[in-house]
Amino acid sequence: MDRPLLNRRLAEFGTTIFAEMSALAVRTGAINLGQGFPDTDGPEEVREAAVRALRDGRGNQYPPGPGIPELRTAVAAHQERFYGHLGVSCDPDTEVLVTAGATEAIAASLLALLEPGDEVIALEPYYDSYAACIAMAGGTRVPVTLRPDPESGSYALDLDELRDAVTDRTRLILLNTPHNPTGTVLTRDALAEVARLACERELLVITDEVYEHLVFEGEHLPLASFPGMRERTVTIGSAGKTFSFTGWKVGWVTATPELVGAVRSAKQFLTYVSAGPFQYAVAEALALPDSYYTGLRDDLRAKRDILATGLTDAGFQVFRPSGTYFITTDIRPLGFDDGFAFCRTLPERAGVVAIPNAVFYDHQDQGAPFVRFAFCKQEKTLLEAVTRLQRL
Ligand SMILES: *Cc1c(COP(=O)(O)O)cnc(C)c1O
Repeated sequence: MDRPLLNRRLAEFGTTIFAEMSALAVRTGAINLGQGFPDTDGPEEVREAAVRALRDGRGNQYPPGPGIPELRTAVAAHQERFYGHLGVSCDPDTEVLVTAGATEAIAASLLALLEPGDEVIALEPYYDSYAACIAMAGGTRVPVTLRPDPESGSYALDLDELRDAVTDRTRLILLNTPHNPTGTVLTRDALAEVARLACERELLVITDEVYEHLVFEGEHLPLASFPGMRERTVTIGSAGKTFSFTGWKVGWVTATPELVGAVRSAKQFLTYVSAGPFQYAVAEALALPDSYYTGLRDDLRAKRDILATGLTDAGFQVFRPSGTYFITTDIRPLGFDDGFAFCRTLPERAGVVAIPNAVFYDHQDQGAPFVRFAFCKQEKTLLEAVTRLQRL
């Protein structure tokens, strides 16, 4: 067989780096700050809600295609509670679609909205499923690079660069705020400019807001709340990051009935439906009091501070994240400039696993000296990691 088994669209995407690094963590006994999953499960009462649903026979058979009404109502109520003052609202019957995590929401949105050859602008470095899903949909990705500013210790979107990236073939912008892996929370001004550009050039925007509740400085502003954006924005949320149940894979899309209908056309032939009993539990989780959401944020802010201080003391240049549960660092002050080589030897040298940011770039040279650490771990784990990193 001369012809490769894996098709040309996917050939460039090997096994994800997370598998390699997690295996390395297991082999060396290193602390895994690579993959971003919490090492403590979410609220007990939410777990109990899932058990109750299973026992009571709710969701054990195919739930409705758009998601159970209880969850769609809870998503709409959540949007109203947190963003109603910005003019955000959605109809639970026609403007909410439950998906198998944000991952399926991203895939279904791209598969639904792209024609082969359409260009998609995405902020680089990007979440690893974006490039593969754009490719599966036959689109062409056009990265716009977030630039690190060592002075401010943060990343910024160059709005001129974004504007220049739009061509006659651009169909949509795939946005992510708060941004994984850099921790950037796009400002009101930046979002207003993205909105203006989208309206002017008649672009759709898919906005991945799975870290909406993990904002430590500034505030999360849904892009859909900006003038002219309601009818062109697909907003994506997920229970995984907000409730620390990443294994449940319950996500959602909110958008106009027309956009939700389009995304559902693709979604129905991917998973059709998923996570029946968990949908009931997530409906309850979304209704948790504000103190749950602020508690989660305050807890992660404290963890960010532990890891950021430890990494700084160990000699890294730290880009202090305003949101998410990741910290991006520059390894050049430690005398290294290749994040891949650095991460492959870090478990041996310091007993910690991290991820080279270059995997999130098309322009790999731009990402070469940066390395990402996750801080959604127990405090004692972070303190031990910080102690170990002082060996460097
Ligand atoms: C974790 C993550 C996702 C995937 O969310 P799931 O609900 O687990 O599918 C999507 N986008 C970003 C930016 C993420 O960090």
